[in-house]
Amino acid sequence: METEENVVGDAGAGDLRAAGLSPARWEAGDPRVAQSLADALPRPFWTSQPGAPDPEPPLTGTVTADLAVVGGGFSGLWTALLARQRDPSADVVLVEGATAGWGASGRNGGFCSASLTHGIGNGLARFPGEMPLLERLGALNLAEIGETVAAHGIDCDFSPAGELDVATEPWHLDGLHAEAEAARGLGHEVTELDAAGVRAELDSPVFLGGVWYRDTCALVDPARLARGLRRACLDTGVRIHEHTPVRAIAEARGGARARAGGGATGSTGTAGGAGRAGRGLVLTTPHGQVRARRVALATGAYRPLLRRIRNYIVPVYDYALVTRPLSAAELAGLGWRHRQGAADLGNQFHYFRLTADDRILWGGYDAVYYNGGRIRTAQDQRPRTFARLARHFLDTFPQLEDVSFEYAWGGVLDTCSRFCPFFGTAYGGRLAYAAGYTGLGVGASRFGANVMLDRLAGLETERTGLALVRSRPVPFPPEPARSAVIQLTRASLARADRDAGRRNLWLRALDRLGLGYDS
Ligand SMILES: Cc1cc2nc3c(=O)[nH]c(=O)nc-3n(C[C@H](O)[C@H](O)[C@H](O)COP(=O)(O)OP(=O)(O)OC[C@H]3O[C@@H](n4cnc5c(N)ncnc54)[C@H](O)[C@@H]3O)c2cc1C
Repeated sequence: METEENVVGDAGAGDLRAAGLSPARWEAGDPRVAQSLADALPRPFWTSQPGAPDPEPPLTGTVTADLAVVGGGFSGLWTALLARQRDPSADVVLVEGATAGWGASGRNGGFCSASLTHGIGNGLARFPGEMPLLERLGALNLAEIGETVAAHGIDCDFSPAGELDVATEPWHLDGLHAEAEAARGLGHEVTELDAAGVRAELDSPVFLGGVWYRDTCALVDPARLARGLRRACLDTGVRIHEHTPVRAIAEARGGARARAGGGATGSTGTAGGAGRAGRGLVLTTPHGQVRARRVALATGAYRPLLRRIRNYIVPVYDYALVTRPLSAAELAGLGWRHRQGAADLGNQFHYFRLTADDRILWGGYDAVYYNGGRIRTAQDQRPRTFARLARHFLDTFPQLEDVSFEYAWGGVLDTCSRFCPFFGTAYGGRLAYAAGYTGLGVGASRFGANVMLDRLAGLETERTGLALVRSRPVPFPPEPARSAVIQLTRASLARADRDAGRRNLWLRALDRLGLGYDS
């Protein structure tokens, strides 16, 4: 993590004007855009809703644990909860630099996908032989998320509505049928739609066709899912310390053994078994220490505490807008009876969905890497991107010209060159990590949590045998080459979108190497 600001701050209060971001600066020449954004609050819609819990106290002093989880996003929350489910006597501590769900987990689109590979196309390109198993495990993972939500009474509007992929350019139609067939071949329920069919589902004059993947995705309110998982962790005995950034991890030195069996509960532990107890790891925080037998690193896009991860992920910003609630007539004008999640098919794509109170969340398109990989709270606001998103929204849904945006925000996600997560261990198997979820970690992070726990327990499972789990992405080059390569890729993708999908030499070279850059 670069600065304290990254984990402790939240988007400031007040509207964008108050923040000095004048509408006039956004999109000179398009008054509709300026008007639509004029009163947007500069913060995530989801976390702005009531119900935020009081934070758990920061860590002071020294505590011991069987398992310490660093990071309180979906990755860390699932890891802690599943650890307690696997072994109810395990003593589990979760430390979070801000508050649980503060990072990407509380501010995303809420598409909870079954895919573990950032989509079927990406999975087939990288793990063709493994895809039937990966899709089966992904479907099981999604089903188990639904079961956990129900079992713990988590009120997060979990709805398995599927995803509607829409073509907005003729070249988007090219691969549509093949992708639908591939998904069918993997056992998915898929409906192909022509222009009239897709417009009957969701009406836009720019939609030319589409595919409704009925069973691959649920929609959630991500902040309420994170709050619910946090509550479930606490209810099952996980100790949580918020506003507790971990500054360093080190091996416990002589006499500083993490107590086998842990702290308060005196358990025989999870993640490793009694026979593997011994010298543990020490997490240093501003006012205390955690001495743990095992550690799970779940720090998302933030500066990894483990140096070896740093070349594999880059922090990429993704941005979203949320409208005011639509009236019944406005909603009826769109159709959208099945309330699917939706996305278009450009290289730079938009994702969009309804919220429970009939607003539209509209996000994506720009995937911004700030040179040097900086993470700053100020970067959560990007008026240029908000203006672009608003203009695209109005072009897509001209019937909603009078609908203004009430929220505008961004967040940072951990992109890797293969777009789907990778896993590893350190300190002789006493620390496990999962990273690189790119833009699809809401569901997959639960799978990753199970991988980390398998690894920490030294278990050989169906999961740990996967090539997805055993292999790694190609690392990014060091700076300044990293920035140059990413910006060239980004510009090339934008050009391909303008040029009927034609990929230039650079993108074709990356394709051949199986590399890329995405949100
Ligand atoms: C705008 C946006 C839209 C998105 N839309 C979708 C979507 O629709 N579907 C989807 O699947 N994915 C989406 N994503 C991605 C998804 O949100 C992430 O993949 C997922 O939330 C990752 O969870 P995480 O726990 O790994 O990371 P995070 O939620 O970022 O959690 C990491 C946590 O670790 C904490 N932390 C970091 N370093 C330290 C430290 N040293 N000490 C203590 N704590 C630390 C941070 O404060 C943070 O709370 C989106 C992301 C963004 C930003």
